[in-house]
Amino acid sequence: MLDVENVKSWMTKFNEQIQAHHDYLSELDTPIGDGDHGNNMARGMNAVMEAIADKDFTDVPAIFKTIAMSLISKVGGASGPLYGTAFMEMAKVGDGEVSALLPAALAGIKKRGKAETGEKTMVDVWAPIAEKTDFTADDVDKAVEATKDMIATKGRASYVGERSVGHIDPGAMSSGYLLKALLEVEE
Ligand code: ADP
Ligand code: MG
Ligand code: MG
Repeated sequence: MLDVENVKSWMTKFNEQIQAHHDYLSELDTPIGDGDHGNNMARGMNAVMEAIADKDFTDVPAIFKTIAMSLISKVGGASGPLYGTAFMEMAKVGDGEVSALLPAALAGIKKRGKAETGEKTMVDVWAPIAEKTDFTADDVDKAVEATKDMIATKGRASYVGERSVGHIDPGAMSSGYLLKALLEVEE
């Protein structure tokens, strides 16, 4: 069960990964997209950290809502509304129970992006992880890596079609950082 401090530390760890892999995320987005995913996420997570650091939140839904609003207003692109929806849906769960949070986030992302698994998007990382009762960092890495062989049929990467094969999906990679950061908080 996550509390407000756990969520802050989750975001701190996720932000560290995003800033450290800023260039890498944009490089992943270059052959199959428009090369901005690292910039989008770095800008969004700077806004999140500014919005939550040194602030008091009454409960977990309140901090999730603040995170969602920052992501929606600052990430931009396709991924901003998707990450924003994930946190908004997690806010609606009403508490910090991880076994309910991840399925709620997944359902929100799928609905918002109209994507199913196998379309080479962040859904391909959220789905296998949210469906497990326990997951490991290795499960996350495998899900991210599996996007490499997929043909993109949603988002910008679908414009290059079969030429998307051989490249990891950038949103899958950033979602992998988010989910692995959560594992560190729970331990
Ligand atoms: P943009 O494509 O607008 O430049 P980003 O580069 O920030 O936005 O994000 C691209 C990522 O968003 C993709 O790698 C993919 O994971 C995710 N994405 C794009 N469209 C969808 C969708 N319809 N459903 C789920 N995820 C999507
Ligand atoms: Mg992009
Ligand atoms: Mg873009």
